[in-house]
Amino acid sequence: MSAWINLLYIISSILFIFGIKKLGSAETARRGNALSAVGMTLAIVATLLYLGLEWWMVMLGMALGSAIGYAAATRVAMTGMPEMVALFNGFGGLASLLVGGAEWVKLRDGGWVHYLEGLKAQSGVAVPAWFACVAIGLTILVGGITFTGSLVAYGKLSGKLGGKPVLFAGQQVVNGVMLAVAMACLGGLVAGGDGPIALGAGLILIGLSLGIGVMMTIPIGGGDMPVVISLLNSLSGVAAALAGFIILNNVLVVAGCLVGASGIILTVIMCKAMNRTLGNVLFGGFGASTQGGGEVEGEMKPATTEDAYYVLEAAQSVVFIPGYGMAVAQAQHAVKELAALLEDHGAEVRFAIHPVAGRMPGHMNVLLAEADVPYEQLQEMDAVNAVMPTVDVAIVIGANDVVNPAALNDPACPIFGMPIIHAHEARTVYCLKRGKGAGFSGLENALFFKENTRMLYGDAKQTITDLVTQFKD
Ligand code: NDP
Repeated sequence: MSAWINLLYIISSILFIFGIKKLGSAETARRGNALSAVGMTLAIVATLLYLGLEWWMVMLGMALGSAIGYAAATRVAMTGMPEMVALFNGFGGLASLLVGGAEWVKLRDGGWVHYLEGLKAQSGVAVPAWFACVAIGLTILVGGITFTGSLVAYGKLSGKLGGKPVLFAGQQVVNGVMLAVAMACLGGLVAGGDGPIALGAGLILIGLSLGIGVMMTIPIGGGDMPVVISLLNSLSGVAAALAGFIILNNVLVVAGCLVGASGIILTVIMCKAMNRTLGNVLFGGFGASTQGGGEVEGEMKPATTEDAYYVLEAAQSVVFIPGYGMAVAQAQHAVKELAALLEDHGAEVRFAIHPVAGRMPGHMNVLLAEADVPYEQLQEMDAVNAVMPTVDVAIVIGANDVVNPAALNDPACPIFGMPIIHAHEARTVYCLKRGKGAGFSGLENALFFKENTRMLYGDAKQTITDLVTQFKD
């Protein structure tokens, strides 16, 4: 391979790494995205130069892909972002599956010897037959799992499929057997070379990979889909890296590994924030039952925005606690306006950010950044919890599970152990929600029934806008 191409690949890889680093903070995230995009453009240009592909075909593919991607990205609502990511992961998996499949067809058409000679001529590397076969088999397996798993995740998140976990007796045994047969097929692929046994093994492997993706995802509840999507994102990276090993493309291996590693790190962060293990998310059937815990006494006390205005006007410190409902209502701009009015009235304003509030990591940060809420007002859960007893008013905007005190004090509760924002410790709590709907866990929330809590029913954006109007009048 030409030294120039390798140099371009190294520059691309460096840009990817710096790009990902910059994604770590909302302030630098846009630049991070731009850096990674430049890296990807470089990688594409270098690959085209190297392989001498048919330009018109590549251009057609790029134009089509860009048009579809642009249309999807500009039309999707903020609340639909996780679904879109699920689909994009799935297409990544499908692309790897197709690369694996195409290479396999090439190998079968021309025979082993010819195929390996071609690889050597193209890359200068003498690849052992077993290596090429394992790479092809694994790419097919992981790509297929990612593809169908992501489609199921998309279906569950978008409500097109039921969100409840699909569980049946012996499910894990069935999954285990499918995986074991897939491994045997992989062995058949390696041992069978370009003969008939390898043909059967390869076809069964393709079918199994698609089946395992479905079977792996159906037992997981809709609420856990963001974790699954993050995991599938990681798998799509692994599939791409494996595809890179088949076609001996260095930058594909590096980019795939980066996606694989960052996806798994994010998955672990999300699990930790929910105080659950990845095993529990994948095999626990969370969401199948809402029995146990979450029982409450008393009644919810509704209030009007007028009542809330008088309390807020006198408040010295106010904490906003946004959750999924703020995203649904798209209330972030109104919230920013209310926060500014409260500051004008002399209150200290903070935003308490729970790591899994909403439906994707950083969901609240993204929404508040979009509304230009100053970063210094955003505080992490532990920092806010430390001062919560001194806070005059906590305003819970469409958050539910992330402020449910049962997670702290009810061992029978399915979300027991999940760290929460201690809204209940504030002097007065206003909870904004449309009605008596539960959070994603389906549990009742004792916070809504507490003595110091008042409910402000209605769409969060409308309620906040009403409060803003009261302040302005
Ligand atoms: P929840 O899903 O627990 O609750 C959302 C609340 O918003 C509901 O009670 C709903 O009540 C209310 N709501 C919905 N629409 C509106 C609206 N238009 N106006 C006002 N209120 C509205 O959200 P949280 O953010 O508290 O918790 C997130 C949950 O998702 C956690 O349990 C977390 O573990 C889980 N999760 C999050 C992930 C992430 O990455 N962020 C990943 C995986 C899981 P009502 O219908 O009555 O209006």
